[in-house]
Amino acid sequence: MAAAAAASSSGSFFILRGAYATATATAASLKASPRTAFSLFSPHRLRLSPTPSLSRRSVSYVRATGNEEDAAKAAAATADSGASTIFDKIINKEIPSTIVYEDDKVLAFRDVNPQAPVHVLVIPKLRDGLTQLGKAEERHGNILGRLMYAAKIVAEKEGILDGFRVVINNGPGACQSVYHLHLHVLGGRQMKWPPG
Ligand code: 5GP
Repeated sequence: MAAAAAASSSGSFFILRGAYATATATAASLKASPRTAFSLFSPHRLRLSPTPSLSRRSVSYVRATGNEEDAAKAAAATADSGASTIFDKIINKEIPSTIVYEDDKVLAFRDVNPQAPVHVLVIPKLRDGLTQLGKAEERHGNILGRLMYAAKIVAEKEGILDGFRVVINNGPGACQSVYHLHLHVLGGRQMKWPPG
């Protein structure tokens, strides 16, 4: 299984190439539309240089720290409670999202707090115990493959096949903030390495 094979012991799962800068969320607190997320007043206190009027490829993205780590620790405390997450609301269309790709098993939508000109989240519609990649069992192989393939479709649709990154943050050590497995598909700018 490609995702499992790419797992590192650090708790982050970096797949493919490029750099990664993440901002995590206290998911329920985010209400902004995907295209209005470049805010100096975001809950993540991102220090973003651009204004929303700049083209998406001229924007620079700076990772914030500290708050994300605290939010991730708080999220981890209820990770296995079985509680629904903000992604359930997105799946059920109870809150809006900008959908990039959808099929019977997978939903891909733009991240409300993008860390690159293209930042799309790819999630299974049915969580089925996959609060995080670290909970994957052999029976999840099919959906994990579907998610990976959907990431490729998203990259293709977004025109970033020549350079994109797929990231899975796993657990508080990797600043996971939403406990419903999701792949971040990032691209549209030059990625750096090592990631933060
Ligand atoms: P994680 O930090 O768990 O790896 O990633 C969770 C991601 O979900 C974050 O990048 C965050 O910006 C995104 N997110 C949280 N809440 C929402 C939301 O309501 N809508 C959208 N589109 N993205 C969200």
